[in-house]
Amino acid sequence: MQLLEAEQAPKPEESLGNYILRQRRRLGLTQKELATQAEVHSQSIGKLERGKTQQLNYKTRQGLAYALQVPAEYLDAVCKGTPVATAQSLDFCPNCWQPGTPPDPMWLDLRSHYCFACGTQLRHQCIHCQQPITSLKHRFCPYCGTAYKSTETTAGQAQQSMSD
Ligand SMILES: [Zn+2]
Ligand SMILES: [Zn+2]
Repeated sequence: MQLLEAEQAPKPEESLGNYILRQRRRLGLTQKELATQAEVHSQSIGKLERGKTQQLNYKTRQGLAYALQVPAEYLDAVCKGTPVATAQSLDFCPNCWQPGTPPDPMWLDLRSHYCFACGTQLRHQCIHCQQPITSLKHRFCPYCGTAYKSTETTAGQAQQSMSD
């Protein structure tokens, strides 16, 4: 289940064309089959995959989301070059959270802005590169290597190599 989600999500920096191509291959569809299911012209699929078209109109967006079985928001995110997890980012207390453990449900409450246990302001993005935190299975930001738990605001450890 989780693997499937990971495959459906756009990779950081992935272009719209590469993303569509990757999702089409995942489903084993030809350009023509995808075009038929998405109810768009097969030339449009070709243009998109070759990077000649960078934007989707509403109909193409809806059609592709349906045919590729991905949320339309993923397509929007690829077009804009933003990470997909923004809508459901994780909040956690940088003071109480133990790396490798799931966040306390209290932190995930949309109304929570401060830790119920220690009063520290909750965090939902990397303090260094501001990328949203999408998984608290990791200790470090996958984008810049900064430790999530760190309360320091200096970027000194950003150069640390990632162990995984
Ligand atoms: Zn706390
Ligand atoms: Zn970062």
